[in-house]
Amino acid sequence: MKKQKEHSYSPISRQNFIKKAAMATVAGTSALVASCRKESSGGSGPAIQNRKTYRWNMVTTWPPNFPVLGDGCNALAKFVEEASEGQMKINVYGGGELIPALEVFDAVSTGTAELGHAGSYYWAGKAEATQLFSTIPFGMNAQEMNSWMLFGGGVDLWRELYAGFNLIPFLAGNTGVQMAGWFNREINSLADFKGLKMRIPGLGGKVLTQVGGTAINLPGGDLYTSLERGVIDATEWIGPYHDYLMGFHEIAKYYYAPGWHEPGSTLEMIVNKQKFDALPNNLQRILEAAATRLNMLSLAEFDKQNAIYMEKIKAETKVEVRFLPQDVMDGLRSATRDIVQDLISRDAFSARVYESFIQFKGRADDWMNYTEKAYYNLIST
Ligand code: CA
Repeated sequence: MKKQKEHSYSPISRQNFIKKAAMATVAGTSALVASCRKESSGGSGPAIQNRKTYRWNMVTTWPPNFPVLGDGCNALAKFVEEASEGQMKINVYGGGELIPALEVFDAVSTGTAELGHAGSYYWAGKAEATQLFSTIPFGMNAQEMNSWMLFGGGVDLWRELYAGFNLIPFLAGNTGVQMAGWFNREINSLADFKGLKMRIPGLGGKVLTQVGGTAINLPGGDLYTSLERGVIDATEWIGPYHDYLMGFHEIAKYYYAPGWHEPGSTLEMIVNKQKFDALPNNLQRILEAAATRLNMLSLAEFDKQNAIYMEKIKAETKVEVRFLPQDVMDGLRSATRDIVQDLISRDAFSARVYESFIQFKGRADDWMNYTEKAYYNLIST
């Protein structure tokens, strides 16, 4: 795809790099001068008044105005309208407003809605490989996921898979590392997962089952009462901000870190292929920019709010915030290998995606050892 090319990595020699760097400075200056001239040459002309306008619907898997994600879609719509000077207007719908939350994929695929916002792991029932584009337990964090997706071939595989469903996916959000969840049972060894009923979706849920627990999938609205009444012993949700708003600190004893099962869940903007292809180039670029913008803003907002609410949970509630012990993590990691092995042995596309993912991860993790990890170790001592 043409737009992909701009993100692909092309090796350049040191000499060329220096030459390009010098030219960029000059080009930067002249671009600045040009943009100043343009601004002073008068506002929008008649061309803008004659443009065809577009009124699109965006369906999402989030409750209406859901903090960060639903709000982020509202902000995306506002950005698109302003950046296009009114040429495109997007109406954003929460799950259940126009269609049920888990019908977003089909609705955009068939063109019932032009746009959607979701997490690709919701669509494992359509194609198992979809979940690998969202997150893999013990997989890559947000920084690495963005790098793999945009520069390591992840998006190309994602688009290839979604083309079969008449969809074009764009990166459009990341939660960062989530929390392992809320427990009313201490987890001191892997054996403590035996018989544990926990709400944990996706591959993480399969891993829990592998170590003797029972993964239960419940909609967000049922979680509080299910945990309160002991229907479940534990639940994961997102991170301190959203979890606090759900009130889990009122009914759970332990809040375990970190979210081994969702180390950097990527969210998606999906667009109906025909509708996207029929857009004028400027609107295609604006939509692309809007998704990239949301991808960055959501992670920044998650990190800000989660930090505030973690502090709040520790200061204002009786909940014990703990880390899962290392041997528990080792056991979960080993079970994850079995689950992933099973997936890639029966699904050829998943095998292709995982191969790309795991190769990229090996290199990225090594680099992180010298940088992010070394730096955090440095400042935390
Ligand atoms: Ca989660």
